[in-house]
Amino acid sequence: MCGIIGYLGYREAYPILINGLKKLEYRGYDSSGIAIFYENGYSLYKSKGKVHELKKKISSYKIKGTTGIGHTRWATHGIPDDINAHPHVSNSNELILIHNGIIENYHAIKIILLKNGFTFKSKTDTEVLVNLIEYIQKKNKLSLEEAVRISLNEIVGAYSIAIVEKSHPERIVIAKLGSPLALGINEREFFIASDPIPFLDYTKNAIYLKDGEMAILRKDQELDLRKIVDNHKLSPIIKELQINLKEIEKGEYKYFMLKEIYEQPKTILDTLRGRLLIKNGLICINGIESNKDIFINAKSITIVACGTSWHASLIGEYLLEELARIPVEVEYASEFRYRNPIIEKKDIVIVISQSGETADTLSALNLAKTKGAFVFGICNVVGSSIARNVDAGAYTHAGPEIGVASTKAFTAQITVLVLLALKIGKYRLAITESRYNYLCQELGSIPEKVNRTLKIDEESIKKISKVYHNVNNFLYLGRGINFPVALEGALKLKEISYIHAEGYPAAEMKHGPIALIDENMPVVIIATKKGCYEKIIGNIQEIKARKGKIIAIVNEGDIQVSMLADYVIKVPNISEELSPLVTVIPLQLLAYQIAFIRGENVDQPRNLAKSVTVE
Ligand code: GLU
Repeated sequence: MCGIIGYLGYREAYPILINGLKKLEYRGYDSSGIAIFYENGYSLYKSKGKVHELKKKISSYKIKGTTGIGHTRWATHGIPDDINAHPHVSNSNELILIHNGIIENYHAIKIILLKNGFTFKSKTDTEVLVNLIEYIQKKNKLSLEEAVRISLNEIVGAYSIAIVEKSHPERIVIAKLGSPLALGINEREFFIASDPIPFLDYTKNAIYLKDGEMAILRKDQELDLRKIVDNHKLSPIIKELQINLKEIEKGEYKYFMLKEIYEQPKTILDTLRGRLLIKNGLICINGIESNKDIFINAKSITIVACGTSWHASLIGEYLLEELARIPVEVEYASEFRYRNPIIEKKDIVIVISQSGETADTLSALNLAKTKGAFVFGICNVVGSSIARNVDAGAYTHAGPEIGVASTKAFTAQITVLVLLALKIGKYRLAITESRYNYLCQELGSIPEKVNRTLKIDEESIKKISKVYHNVNNFLYLGRGINFPVALEGALKLKEISYIHAEGYPAAEMKHGPIALIDENMPVVIIATKKGCYEKIIGNIQEIKARKGKIIAIVNEGDIQVSMLADYVIKVPNISEELSPLVTVIPLQLLAYQIAFIRGENVDQPRNLAKSVTVE
């Protein structure tokens, strides 16, 4: 995810771009850059870090020009640095491009371009795209817009782009598929941005480009809107935006956390993109493929993490043991690093962290490396310390997570762990072909099922939250792979509502927590059909006998548990191995709704910080 901006008109572009980038920083802020065009030339500036770093770098320059493009990056391909920052320039120095999204088939295209004499400065997929456009344009002697159109038909992935040809600064070509793109329109000027906030001071007349559309913007001319697939001309429908500036930064959502919960169908899909190729029965993860023998010969795996990532690790333990038949230990990073753990040379240690900067996890990583372990990282922030220091890894493509209570990063971590377990299981011949194929299919259906879960649960969760927002304690129970989900549900509630909550394996309840149960104690219990269902019913009976209140997470079509529970929240049917990806959704929503009703600041809970860079 990143923010893109552009201007074409009669005003000086620089202040519009730099102020606009600041407003788009919530979309990514690891590096930024701008290009401003004048007759037959351009000025290009890039800087690692936030937009104010870029501004500082160029504050003494006189930057003149009435056409310009800018970008604030959230890296997906290549670490955040000046070279990988956008805009990217083609080999002949003629084409300058900004891009939000991921070009999935960039590697195959890069190989073709290399064979045709192209060279690359950066590690980005974006630089491949700008050179593909140049290659196609030169080879076929095409206009920029036609070269863009033909190139985009070769692309697999997601993008919103803006591109300018140095010798024609009076024109910008833009296009969209998957990533957002808004176009503001005034007399004799156009504004481009990932969302309309940056241009609202200038115009409220705008169109949101639809997927598969491109537009050619020319100075003093009407907008030319086309379909990318066949160049069919479209009539633009310009609307007047009715926007409250404050709200749009979180879209329609009151808090980032809620927005991030609702983003999960997309973030899970982004994490699967280019990795799960269901048709060919393939899972592609470079970090595993290039270390195949290490995973095939593994005697055991240790997973190290903190907080929510530690819960994802516990789910990883179930998955890797079940599907790849490797013994797994899960450790708190803070404990691991201080207790002289038994790690031998070539043992596998997996470290998991959303930010990639978690201090304890980073120290655990370093300790594992000094002991000669092979360290594999799973994190969300490209180029973070953990990403840079591991031997191999896989990113979660969840986009920037702003709410302190992690939601979409958690499901993205589980998604990567499922891919890992299936891939390694296949390498080790630990999983049958038919089970592997079935689980790949099921995994492909997860984004749609998460979407459905978000829709069906909203009203029932609001109702439950109204009843229980004032209690002092909550108990969360689950079994098997859903036990860590119970832990995560309890953690979410604690973090943002300050209600005391405990997660337990359901059967452990009778060894202690049952003493707490009375008519004031709500018990959230995950009771999916394939997970020890009969045993869970027994646990529910035990709670009811002590007058506890049951909030049950059940599968669609459930009858037995639904008849016993006080409140029922339904999730779609899915294989038990993948069920945490749907069962955690109502628990996130429940925590959110309770905190919201209590009037807490959901995004910035007291005493917590997003990236825990201290011990
Ligand atoms: N894939 C591009 C990159 O890594 C764009 C990422 C973004 O959307 O910020 O540079």
